[in-house]
Amino acid sequence: MSSHDDNPQQTASPIPLKLATDIAPLPVVAASARKQNLLDLDRAGMEQFFVGKLGEQKFRAHQVMKWIHHRYVTDFDGMTDLGKNLRAKLQEHAEVVVPNVVFDKPSSDGTHKWLLGMGVDGKNAVETVYIPDKGRGTLCVSSQVGCGLNCSFCSTATQGFNRNLTTAEIIGQVWVTAKHLGNVPAQIRRLTNVVMMGMGEPLLNYDNVVRAMNIMRDDLGYGLASKRVTLSTSGLVPMMDRLSLETEVALAVSLHAPNDELRGQLIPLNKKYPIAELMASCARYLLANKKRDSVTFEYTLMKGVNDQPEHARQLAQLMRKFGNATQVKDAGKVNLIPFNPFPGTNYVRTEEAEIRAFQKILLDAGVLTMVRRTRGDDIDAACGQLKGQVLDKTRRNAEFRKSLQAKSVQDRGDSTHESKHAAA
Ligand code: SF4
Repeated sequence: MSSHDDNPQQTASPIPLKLATDIAPLPVVAASARKQNLLDLDRAGMEQFFVGKLGEQKFRAHQVMKWIHHRYVTDFDGMTDLGKNLRAKLQEHAEVVVPNVVFDKPSSDGTHKWLLGMGVDGKNAVETVYIPDKGRGTLCVSSQVGCGLNCSFCSTATQGFNRNLTTAEIIGQVWVTAKHLGNVPAQIRRLTNVVMMGMGEPLLNYDNVVRAMNIMRDDLGYGLASKRVTLSTSGLVPMMDRLSLETEVALAVSLHAPNDELRGQLIPLNKKYPIAELMASCARYLLANKKRDSVTFEYTLMKGVNDQPEHARQLAQLMRKFGNATQVKDAGKVNLIPFNPFPGTNYVRTEEAEIRAFQKILLDAGVLTMVRRTRGDDIDAACGQLKGQVLDKTRRNAEFRKSLQAKSVQDRGDSTHESKHAAA
């Protein structure tokens, strides 16, 4: 477990960045001003609440965690092994508030997507996706309402940003989906992996994300092994360094380009933390804990942008250097992701043959390289396609919609122009 401060009211850590996300975060939305939402607390926080606030023994906190995360009971009257007095105290001081399901949608390939309403006004909503695959079930969890980092190939970025999710709203995504799947930790394992890879940059919501990952990894929570919980970041180096010391979770990095010039065009954050700094931080991450054996590098392939043989060779070189720096065999694993188009994007998916050729260059150079199968694209649940409902506090969504309108006017103009020529 991590050594972070377990104060449940603590908000996201300040970081030395000037980003769109620097707008003041909304206060954490409690479902009730005076009651503690128990979904906001990991084991340490629960023990503190039960002992400090309720004057109870620690094991009572453990009993209640099992009711919530193993049996999906949110009504204290249903927690039948608690005494009447304790149940009355809980009614007075606590509650269990889970996100509400706005809709859920299964895909023909077994993938399942939920749109979950967040906060009391319910106007913000995030998407959570479950992807079953041979012997495993992976849940892709969101950490923010929207995202302020504005990566040029990302659907979430076009929606702008509203706020960080609370711990309850992050673990609530696991709670809702695990309940739906009939998952029973340590018995019926439908949920075997969690990736913090949904909407948002998780390291910009550090404390809430770490606390939620604690619950995912706790036997009183969802009992997932640390290596089965993966945090994916676009490369916030200082927070990666902090994470390396405070948790044991696996790390994935959104790389998407093998040189700074190109990566800077795709991921603006690269200008703040260029590739050399990012890779050095990845090496520190790997070496900070002996249980870690690799870092995964995500690389979305976009036709004519970052999918040329030269890019593959540069990527192989980067991985070779990473291996040398860490002295760990297969230290860097590459995940190639065919780009998933969304309305308004100018990027196009790389053809299958080129994807395989790109992979071959890496494999021939000794780099462990997988091609991620596209899942759930019939319900817009594929990687990079997630969109919730974001009350945008930046100008990004308005600007995106304006550019879409301008594009459609221009397209209409072009087609009129073409048909006039055809008629002539
Ligand atoms: S790719 Fe990730 S970090 Fe970049 S804008 Fe999208 S959600 Fe944010």
